[in-house]
Amino acid sequence: KTNINWEANRAQFPVLQREVNGQPLVYLDNGASSQMPQRVIDRINAYHANEHSNVHRGIHSLSQYATDAYELARKRVQKFINARYEEEIIYTTGTTDSINLVAQSYGRKHFKEGDEILLTAMEHHANIVPWQMVAELTGATIKVIPMTDEGELLMDEFHALLSNKTKMVAVVHVSNALGTINPVEEIIEASHAKDIPVLVDGAQATPHSVIDVQELDADFYAFSAHKMCGPTGFGILYGKKELLNEMPPYRGGGDMIDKVTFEKTTWNDLPHKFEAGTPPISAGVGFAETIAFLDEIGMENIAAREQELLDYATEKLNEIDGLRIVGTARNKASVISFLLEGIHPTDAGTILDQKGIAVRTGHHCTQPIMDRFKIPGTARASISFYNNEEDIDRLAEGIKYVKEFF
Ligand code: PMP
Repeated sequence: KTNINWEANRAQFPVLQREVNGQPLVYLDNGASSQMPQRVIDRINAYHANEHSNVHRGIHSLSQYATDAYELARKRVQKFINARYEEEIIYTTGTTDSINLVAQSYGRKHFKEGDEILLTAMEHHANIVPWQMVAELTGATIKVIPMTDEGELLMDEFHALLSNKTKMVAVVHVSNALGTINPVEEIIEASHAKDIPVLVDGAQATPHSVIDVQELDADFYAFSAHKMCGPTGFGILYGKKELLNEMPPYRGGGDMIDKVTFEKTTWNDLPHKFEAGTPPISAGVGFAETIAFLDEIGMENIAAREQELLDYATEKLNEIDGLRIVGTARNKASVISFLLEGIHPTDAGTILDQKGIAVRTGHHCTQPIMDRFKIPGTARASISFYNNEEDIDRLAEGIKYVKEFF
């Protein structure tokens, strides 16, 4: 138990006070995107009202204010994930963009015919497709670590698949569809013993847990602001400086250059080498505020509260006849994918929506997981620290109503 007033905390999220379809909103689609607290919304508005200008270029004062506000996110993120250097924090537009950056920059430089890229059976499409694209270009092939019926990686198979052909291991830290928290420490250690770099897709881990990239020793760590109470259009690629320094830029344009002539262009230093063009400035400013907000609550408190809500929800849902939870790993984040006997997940989601309950249905951008479990999709309740027991009770009642309806 934490001694935080979670109801006061919840009250800071204005959208949670609205109604949907005539019912108070129960927002349980946090895995898709989380909500922003008032102070982040206010910070973004204040930026637009008072501080907006382009960044990194103006000699005038307003441009300097905008640059400072925008660069503050880099400093805060560095501390938040405990990166060694500020220039190891690369701004992107999200997890998808971060992974594409590594695949196109690192992958095109290093992969060749016969090389292998090792993924897991529970990757989001964002950590599959970019690797397939670079595999196609370079002649590398994709290998997949399988999982159990509970949704846990078969670690013996991982160790057997790791070979001197492996040139990259890319794994999801927390599965958005199953909730599984993967043993990334063991994966990183074993990969490093063979000098293989590891990219961790942290999209669902950063909102729910304390992340320390130095302790993990991850080579690359990717995440999105909008899944952790920040704005859309903004994300982070953490990369070890030694690796980022020798990687070529992924996109060309303004800001990422040192000197341009028609004959030859030289690159700017880190982190700007990877940040071409005018970025989503207000989103970065808002994300700096988000990190301060999360730091004040404490990620360890958030993790504890979400574990409490997960346990409560798992118990409630398991009491419902004909409900099956997909993803029952021992080490799980606050995501519950479920199926109702004889009812299509889309139909269940539609009826829940009529009751003001927002869950996601479908394949959750993880089609290979659905194939693995031979199901068309699931309904997914993904819980945040600003949810409460009443939300879970409303979900359980809603599901019972769905069952009566069909
Ligand atoms: N990986 C995982 C595990 C995710 O849950 C998501 C978002 N659903 C992504 C990657 C992609 O994130 P984004 O759409 O913000 O780029």
